[in-house]
Amino acid sequence: MRNHLFDLIRASLPADPATRTFIETGDGTRISYADMLDRSAAYASALRALGVRTGDRVAVQVEKSAEVVFLYLGAVRAGAVFLPLNTAYTAPEIAYFLSDAEASLFVCDSARLAALEPVAAEAKVTALRTLDGSGRGSMADAADAAGTDFADVARGADDLAAILYTSGTTGRSKGAMLSHDNLASNAITLVEAWRFTADDVLIHALPVFHTHGLFVATNIVLLAGATAIFLPKFDPKQVLALMGRATAMMGVPTFYTRLLREPGLTPEAAAKIRLFVSGSAPLLAETHRDWQARTGHAILERYGMTETNMNTSNPYDGERIAGTVGLPLPGISLRVVDADTGRALPADAVGMIEVKGPNVFRGYWRMPEKTASEFKADGFFITGDLGKVDERGYVHIVGRGKDLIITGGYNVYPKEVENEIDALPGVVESAVIGLAHADFGEGVTAIVVARPDAPGEEEILRILEGRLARFKCPKRILFAEDLPRNAMGKVQKNLLREAHAELYRR
Ligand code: ATP
Ligand code: MG
Repeated sequence: MRNHLFDLIRASLPADPATRTFIETGDGTRISYADMLDRSAAYASALRALGVRTGDRVAVQVEKSAEVVFLYLGAVRAGAVFLPLNTAYTAPEIAYFLSDAEASLFVCDSARLAALEPVAAEAKVTALRTLDGSGRGSMADAADAAGTDFADVARGADDLAAILYTSGTTGRSKGAMLSHDNLASNAITLVEAWRFTADDVLIHALPVFHTHGLFVATNIVLLAGATAIFLPKFDPKQVLALMGRATAMMGVPTFYTRLLREPGLTPEAAAKIRLFVSGSAPLLAETHRDWQARTGHAILERYGMTETNMNTSNPYDGERIAGTVGLPLPGISLRVVDADTGRALPADAVGMIEVKGPNVFRGYWRMPEKTASEFKADGFFITGDLGKVDERGYVHIVGRGKDLIITGGYNVYPKEVENEIDALPGVVESAVIGLAHADFGEGVTAIVVARPDAPGEEEILRILEGRLARFKCPKRILFAEDLPRNAMGKVQKNLLREAHAELYRR
């Protein structure tokens, strides 16, 4: 095992780096592996010249471009810690992240420079530079000036390569400390599990401030010597047009549901693709089936998180089972335990998912108590996700521990109720949450997105009573235009709980 992520990338370089394309941008510009080497060296050199020292945090909040990837690799080569931030974050949110991380350098979009300058000053950031979606800005200029002569700063396997803040779906984002080995080992595992080679062309329409787009998608391409087609955002028509010359796509479930609305999605349109991957949020079994019917492809669903990179994957060759996230990846142990007693549970019993392996992070940045409470004495990390492992070893995610509803002393797993509601005619999707209720502790409540032909509240309640134990049935059905989602397509149940907190209190 090589210690330094960039040593691994270097060792995996194609034999002809000047002629092999690493990134192709939406407008057809091709950037070679040789360019990647030069540009990442230039950024590494520029970072050191700007005063970034080994272990310093380099925070960036910029639109997607190939240059951000080179800045990421430059930070890694410079021995710094790369810290990407969601482009949706507002100035007060950025203020929190910059001071929490004690970033030494902050790179933002030039359009936001005026708003973020005081924020960066307040957080005592030593240097502020810009980088735009076009790939230009004062940070790119600094790289131009720095030249491509750079000797990588040595780092060990346990040293940090990145801090990635969690998506904040269940509360305030936490900074997950990821080591060189965390990233390197997971990328090696995934290249192997998903059979990536230099012949692959990946449609990359994900943001690059999150594990999925930055580490899973980009690191895999780098280690395979493959090509990524970088799209600034997901556009179903553009993606459909690209399918004719790509071999793989990685996406979140909403990519698939939106592509399914395109009449042009046919077996012929998808014929050249060998692999469709989904993750970051649950893929409905219905979407999996519809996709297979329309394209002939079984989507490969996998499960991961900021803290652990990827934990499980449906098999490349074996059966991909809809509604499951597959089997633990090689070298990763996964178990389901009773959340109260900590005892391991038998097959099919629902409990807390815990994982252990080289993929698991080094703890939450500056949160030693939180870190200690999320790790067991034997090294397993408590994911916070509820699930079960079936007789065949496939992992099923049932929901988040924080979303578990306890009503009248009974446990209700929202997903079980959502599945019943989603199967009703005219229902687009639903989110089931628990709301404070004087009699039951929490009252099961469903927020439903429906077309006009869907049954109304009373009708849905009547149907559910015939299908679910009484305690699992919602007390109320509320209709909504859509569900609040974050950038990764995750439903933000905390926002729904806040919005409807008073429902049973009136
Ligand atoms: P926070 O931890 O700040 O509340 P978050 O957990 O959403 O936010 P991420 O690390 O981006 O932040 O997301 C990881 C979570 O996403 C997992 O713990 C799991 O709940 C969910 N997830 C990922 N992949 C899948 C999947 N295939 N099916 C169901 N859930 C998934
Ligand atoms: Mg989480």
